[in-house]
This record gives sequence, C-alpha cells and structure tokens, in this order.
Amino acid sequence: MHDSFDQALQYAKQALEMMVERNVPATPNNFLVWYTHVSERLPDLSRMISILMDNGQEFNDAVNGDLFTKFFSTELEQQTLHETTQRIEQELGRIVGYVGDAGKGASEFGETLATAEGEITSANGIETIKAAVSKVISDTRKMEEINHNLESQLAQSTQEVGQLRDDLEDMRREALTDALTGIANRKLFDMELRRHARDAMEAGEDMSLLMLDIDHFKKFNDTYGHQTGDEVLKLLAITMTKSVKGSDVPARYGGEEFAVILPDTDQDGAFQVAEHIRNSICNKKLVNRANDQDLGQITVSIGASTFEFGEPLSDLIRRADQSLYKAKAEGRNKVVSQSSLKSSELTFT
Ligand code: GH3
Ligand code: MG
Ligand code: MG
Repeated sequence: MHDSFDQALQYAKQALEMMVERNVPATPNNFLVWYTHVSERLPDLSRMISILMDNGQEFNDAVNGDLFTKFFSTELEQQTLHETTQRIEQELGRIVGYVGDAGKGASEFGETLATAEGEITSANGIETIKAAVSKVISDTRKMEEINHNLESQLAQSTQEVGQLRDDLEDMRREALTDALTGIANRKLFDMELRRHARDAMEAGEDMSLLMLDIDHFKKFNDTYGHQTGDEVLKLLAITMTKSVKGSDVPARYGGEEFAVILPDTDQDGAFQVAEHIRNSICNKKLVNRANDQDLGQITVSIGASTFEFGEPLSDLIRRADQSLYKAKAEGRNKVVSQSSLKSSELTFT
C-alpha cells in the first residue's frame, strides 16, 4: 500500500472509528481488514463487510478471523510464492552467467594453445619454445582456477535451488492444510475426494463419505468463548484422526464441520466408523487445562453416504449432508446413513 502520509492517516482514523463503533479489537490483523475496507482497495472485502453490517452481524472473533483469513492470508501466501519464484529466477540467471564465463575461459584457452602450437612449430630456438610452453603452463593454471571457482559456485547454486525446492514443498503443504487443526483443508478434501472416487471406480471398490457437524456449538462458544471453541476443534481433529485408518482422509470442511473420506468402505462399514467417531467424542470429558474448569461434553452428528460409480461428487456430498440434517432433526449425537433417507428426502437440484 502506498498512500501519502495524509491519506494514510485519514484512512487509519476512519478505520479505527469504524472498529471502535463495532467493538472490533484493534489488533494488527483486524486493522489491516478495516484499513483496506475504508481505502476501497478490495471491493469483495468491502462488499462482504456491507453484507455483514446489513445483517446486523456482530463482529466477533470468529467473523474477524474469517475476514482476515479469507482476504489476507492467501495474499501473504501469494507474496511468498512470488518472492520464491523471483529467487529461482535470480539463481538460474547466475548459473547461466557462470556457464557463460566458463565458456569464455575455455575459448581463450583454446586460442592460447593454437598460438603456442604455431610458435612451437615455427620455432627457431629453444628460448622461443620455452616461452611458449611456459605461457601454456600459466594459462593452464588460470583455467584450473576458473574451473575450480565454477565448481564451487555451482555447488552453492545447487544448495540454494535445493533450499528453494524445500520451501516450495512447505508452501504446498501449508496451502493444503487447515491452519488451526493441522488436518486436510477444504481444498485438499476436494482433491482427495476426486482422486479416491477415480480409484474406487478403477478398482471396483466402494467408497464412503462422512459429514460431521458439532452439536450446539454456537452455545458452547457463547458460554466458554471462541478460543476455547477453537481448542475443541483441535481436539476433535485429533480424535477423528485417531479413530480412523491411515488411508482414510479426515478434513476440516469449513467452520465447525468436518468430513472423512473412507476408501474401500461400504455403507455398513461407514456407519460403524461414524459410530466409533461419535462415541470417542461424546465420551471425552472436556476440561480447561488453564483453570481446571469443567466444560462438560461435546457431541457431534454425522451423516454417511456411499459413492455410486459415475455419479457427480456433489450428489455424494448432498446425500451425506441430508443424512446429517436428519441426524440433527432426530435429536443430535447421532449417526444417520443414506439408507435411512426416504426417497422423498432425496432432493436433486
Ligand atoms: P447445530 O447443533 O444445529 O449444529 O447447532 P450449532 O450451534 O452448532 O450450529 P450453528 O450453525 O447455529 O452455529 C455454528 C457455530 O459454530 C457458530 C460459530 O460460532 C461456530 N464456529 C464456526 N466456525 C468456528 C471456528 O472456527 N471456531 C470456533 N470457535 N467456532 C466456530
Ligand atoms: Mg454447522
Ligand atoms: Mg453445529
């Protein structure tokens, strides 16, 4: 952002006023959101803030956090990606330079040899031969030095390129991981679901899907605070991961919703895995380690669906969602499988 001093001060004042008015804590992340909003740099961000304000939405920690992540954390990622790409370009430029230098050195050395050959052939005295040979020897030493330098410069570049490759790999992993819980994020979930559906069709194996949503989580957040709520999300991710096999893919689908892809698993199997997850979660007694406060128990509702070869994946997700909805309607802390959906409940849009 390159605003003039006065312009920046005006934006900053306006942003702070709006934040104070709406009880938004003046943290650096929130300030970035509201400064950008008043400077009208990101129309999508401003549009989203207007919608939230029109709906009388409270700017609580969850909303503020979402706004920042949605509009800025990916920008930061992109900036890092851009910088890494620039580093790669620089390194390649340097390598091309070294190779050019080495080529020049070699052709100069070739000239030295050709001249020496001429001088030795037409030599009429030992002194001329001696001089020619000594020139060849000294140029050979220079050539050796050039090669030696080139070798160490290339070794350094190789190391730097290796580091860049590791950085890119880290970035790729981060881009596909949910920052709070450390499990797959929505993007990786989408990729994995497509991959497993294809594998299932190729191998003629079943594949099932679970959609999981925390029961009355709003109330939990309201009672114990959003940060404690976040701790529950982390615990839930750990419990889910422990309750499934290594080839299953637990993912954070969004907010307080999770999904698990179950390769090579039929309807009955999916129901059993879901029951296992549901039980592991509701049997945990939650205690706030900071102050030993008893937080009671958390329960989840789960909907399960099984892939029909060739169907659009949105249909598979929809059936899991409808089953989840039914589990909520039937009292929560419950697993519902697609087989208990009546055909009238299977809506296709
Ligand atoms: P239901 O049993 O019907 O699912 O009730 P609910 O209260 O869980 O459902 P609702 O959709 O009304 O509220 C979801 C709540 O989840 C609202 C929001 O505060 C909370 N939530 C969503 N994402 C996060 C998050 O990242 N962290 C925390 N702590 N809470 C979140
Ligand atoms: Mg929900
Ligand atoms: Mg919920």
